[in-house]
Amino acid sequence: MQFSVLTIFPEIFDSFLSHGIIRRAIEGNIITVNPLDIRDFAEGKHRITDDRPYGGGAGMVMKPEPLAGAIAEARKLMPGGRTILLSPQGRPFKQSVAAEFSLLEGLIFICGRYEGVDERIYKYIDDEISIGDYVLTGGEPAAMIIIDAVTRLLPGALGGEASAEKDSFTDDLLEHAHYTRPPEFEGESVPDVLLSGNHGIIEDWRLGSSLVRTLIKRPDLLEKRILSSREKQVLKQWCEYIERFISG
Ligand code: SAM
Repeated sequence: MQFSVLTIFPEIFDSFLSHGIIRRAIEGNIITVNPLDIRDFAEGKHRITDDRPYGGGAGMVMKPEPLAGAIAEARKLMPGGRTILLSPQGRPFKQSVAAEFSLLEGLIFICGRYEGVDERIYKYIDDEISIGDYVLTGGEPAAMIIIDAVTRLLPGALGGEASAEKDSFTDDLLEHAHYTRPPEFEGESVPDVLLSGNHGIIEDWRLGSSLVRTLIKRPDLLEKRILSSREKQVLKQWCEYIERFISG
């Protein structure tokens, strides 16, 4: 999958692209990431990409001409890509959106700065995405977040060491609790079931852990869920366990 990032600070991506799973995905030709400097499409010696807002007021606005030039270049390099404006006013980014994007040929991100982009750029935009209800100084962290979340869903990106299938939000549930060595830490033991070697019981425990964690931490995710008979059964077992625990 191809990613293009239109930014006035392409060097911000250097470290992000040279570590961990993202670096491996680039080396393995699973993804390409091409940061394009919007300044390269600005006119004049000073390559200015922003100007004062018409109507007055604080802050600067990103000029349309350099952005349009950068978008045209990105589209030439990636004709099948979806052009995404990163903006706090956009469609909320979620795991389901990451899954939707992971099926596309490529994404072209426009990273705003200052007060954002000139309104006339919207005619070039296919999608407007927000990573949350807060305001960043620029779209670059948002582009990294989306590239990261999408890449780990691409076949082969996680290698043999991990799987995205059971990650939080995949099935509108948070993922179950995890334990690793040592078997006891500061007086707290790993649940016996995880040491049992019985995969059926372990899977039930994990499903229960997942449901209970979601209920406690993100009840909104469970509100519309119709529990399967297995989920009900597993939750009942957890209720019995909690009751036994309470009554000592
Ligand atoms: N004045 C704009 C507003 O209130 O809607 C905010 C501009 S923000 C300071 C500068 C740039 O950061 C935006 O153009 C956008 O590219 C990026 N940005 C800020 N918050 C974001 C968010 N929650 N999600 C995605 N991008 C964001």
